Parts: sequence; C-alpha cells; structure tokens
Amino acid sequence: MADECIFCKIIRGDFNTEFVYETENTVVFNDINPKAPIHMLVCPKVHVESLNELEDKNLMAELIQTVKDVTQKIGLKSYKTLINTGKEAGQEVFHLHIHILGNK
Ligand code: 5GP
Ligand code: ZN
Repeated sequence: MADECIFCKIIRGDFNTEFVYETENTVVFNDINPKAPIHMLVCPKVHVESLNELEDKNLMAELIQTVKDVTQKIGLKSYKTLINTGKEAGQEVFHLHIHILGNK
C-alpha cells in the first residue's frame, strides 16, 4: 500500500466512500468527477501503479470479471472501458483503475 495514494486511502475506507461492488481483490466506486451519467472506477485493492506494473494474471482476470459483474449488477448492457497508462496518456491517479462509462 502506498501511504500517499488517494485510491489506497479510498480502498482502506479513510473517506467512507461507498463501494458499488467489491470482490476479494477488487473494488468499484463512482468517479468523483463523472464524464458520463454512469462513471465507475474498478481498482485492485493492492497498490499497482499502472497497467505496466500489473503482473499478476489472476488479478488481471479478476479485474475484467469485476467489470462484467458490476455492469450486470446495475443492468448496464452497453458501456465503454478505458485505462489510461502513463502521464502523457492522461493518467492522473497512479493506482491502476479501469474506467467504466455508460448512459443510464
Ligand atoms: P485517470 O486520469 O488517472 O485515468 O483517472 C483518474 C480519475 O479519478 C478521474 O476521472 C478523477 O475524476 C477520479 N478521481 C480523482 N480523485 C478522486 C477521488 O478522490 N475520488 C474519486 N471517487 N475519484 C477520483
Ligand atoms: Zn494505491
């Protein structure tokens, strides 16, 4: 866990953020500044800086399964997913997250 990482703080409950969905190794919460009517972020609980640092293949699979499960849970059949990797690509929070963007 990175002490100063905002998503690690969210994940450990420092801000009482509501989790839309949670698995053993992943969490989903709403983006604070949504760019679509539905904008959720899927994160690993463990601190991984970006996709470039993700090596655990089981965790990769769990993250994608979480995308499927949370969208199914809320009845969202059509959505976009996005992972920004690196500053130049627009990554602002250096704790891996998959954006899920959809309409209500
Ligand atoms: P990135 O640009 O790194 O791919 O996306 C970071 C996302 O995290 C942005 O969409 C931003 O709105 C969101 N974000 C930044 N800080 C917080 C926060 O404290 N809480 C929540 N829920 N989302 C955040
Ligand atoms: Zn972190």
